[in-house]
Amino acid sequence: MGRIGIAALSALLLGANLSPAQAAEHYTGPIIDTHAHLRTNDGNGLSASHPIGTAELRALDQAAGVQQSALIVIARQGDMAATRALNDAAIAAAKADPQHFYVIASVHPADGDAALAELDRLAKLGVKVIKLHPNTQRFDVADPAVAKVTAKCGELGMAVLFDSFNPLDANELGKLLMLSLRQPKTNFIFAHMGFTQFRDVLTLSTLRKLGMGGNVWLDISAIGTAYAGSPVQPELVWTLRQHGVDHVLMGSDWPVDTPATAIAAVRALGLTADEERLVLHDNAAKLLGLN
Ligand SMILES: [Zn+2]
Repeated sequence: MGRIGIAALSALLLGANLSPAQAAEHYTGPIIDTHAHLRTNDGNGLSASHPIGTAELRALDQAAGVQQSALIVIARQGDMAATRALNDAAIAAAKADPQHFYVIASVHPADGDAALAELDRLAKLGVKVIKLHPNTQRFDVADPAVAKVTAKCGELGMAVLFDSFNPLDANELGKLLMLSLRQPKTNFIFAHMGFTQFRDVLTLSTLRKLGMGGNVWLDISAIGTAYAGSPVQPELVWTLRQHGVDHVLMGSDWPVDTPATAIAAVRALGLTADEERLVLHDNAAKLLGLN
């Protein structure tokens, strides 16, 4: 086939199949990053290279089109004064830029009634999301103390951002699924969507046919950047659609990824522009009562 033949054939294929305009169609409006970590002055953060404060993240958000961002802290066990101080530091950081940042505070389930009292205090201060991280905080998701914390969050109208991947506990995602089914009044956000175990999330889409599991949101931080462009990408997208793209949230997991990297991964998944709008903005706005 000569050159003209190839050109004519490719024009035909492009016209009939995927036009450049269609391929480039993306949601371009404001974005909410539902998973970004704060490193406070006392050093509570993800790593030694995690910048202290919000200035660096704010600049990255500006460049990436992120209009609002979470500021996550993670509580340690056994020192409620430190937990309160950590949460207050996060609240103060968000209050310094309230149009842009919102707080994801934390308690440690093993702190029992004191942790529940801290949830009361945080709810009164307007906190809407609580972070729990079984691996970092070293607790078992099946511990009854965890169920007390998540039930209390539901009573107070606070969602729980729950890390859902633990290389040390192969049953963790199953425990989390059961907890979310037992507590339909609590909104659970599965951070990283189970990561390499994401296939198990499909259990939820089956249960959603029976009216269950609508209280589970999937935060695709880390997993989006891990699998975008990979051989697994079609299955990841298929699983998101089975669960419901109206229950999927974008997160950067800053400083693990930058907001720009995480957003580029979402845009590389091959979602429609309407699906991107849900994932990058509308679902978070609805769940968290943000603009
Ligand atoms: Zn994280």
